[in-house]
Amino acid sequence: MDLSLTEAQRPVIQDDNLESLARVVRGLHAQGLTPATSSNFSIREAGPFTGFSISVSGLDKGLFSAQDFMQVDANGKPLPSEKSKPSAETLLHRTVYRSYPSVTSVLHTHSIAGVVLSKLYETAKGIALDNFEMLKAFKGIQSHTVKLWIPIFPNSQNMDELSEVIENYFQTSLAQDMICAPGFILAGHGLYAWGDSLSEAKRHIEAFEYLFTCLLALKNHGYTSLT
Ligand SMILES: [Zn+2]
Repeated sequence: MDLSLTEAQRPVIQDDNLESLARVVRGLHAQGLTPATSSNFSIREAGPFTGFSISVSGLDKGLFSAQDFMQVDANGKPLPSEKSKPSAETLLHRTVYRSYPSVTSVLHTHSIAGVVLSKLYETAKGIALDNFEMLKAFKGIQSHTVKLWIPIFPNSQNMDELSEVIENYFQTSLAQDMICAPGFILAGHGLYAWGDSLSEAKRHIEAFEYLFTCLLALKNHGYTSLT
């Protein structure tokens, strides 16, 4: 099915939403989660999935503004009027939007805690998060006793293959009726998290990063019972 859009059909992303996302990007950078021009961020309007706005590649996230996003269609391809290069990881954003129709924002960080943990837990293919009050920051979770599993996928520069692996995981998880964390980790690379609104996506990514920092500190203190 051809999902590409003409200019007349381009998805309209409200300027206010781009301003809000730019503010979130600068805030995550200020927390040290997006160093050295890394990471990428996207947003779309609720409703049928026709495309999204994503951060332009290679810019300092501490200086990010609403003008530094570009629009891509539902295949992740830049609209004809766009002159900039989208992030190399645009296809991963598309995969999340395609798999979860209610999601309207996808955020990605390259934190030290997330990357170190991803190396420690890569062979386990994920991290179980439980017994933290912060778990209640995730949509639908009302108790610290819930166990949340966040998967770790091997990193790759082949975004077609990687997005297929991730999409297959989502479909399998959905079919098995598992509770899926609103996020995944790429080993040695970073975290992706999302939400049904920008504020929910921000809350999720901050909660993940907080929990990663806690886990890493526990590891450094010799705590070994983490699965
Ligand atoms: Zn990345």
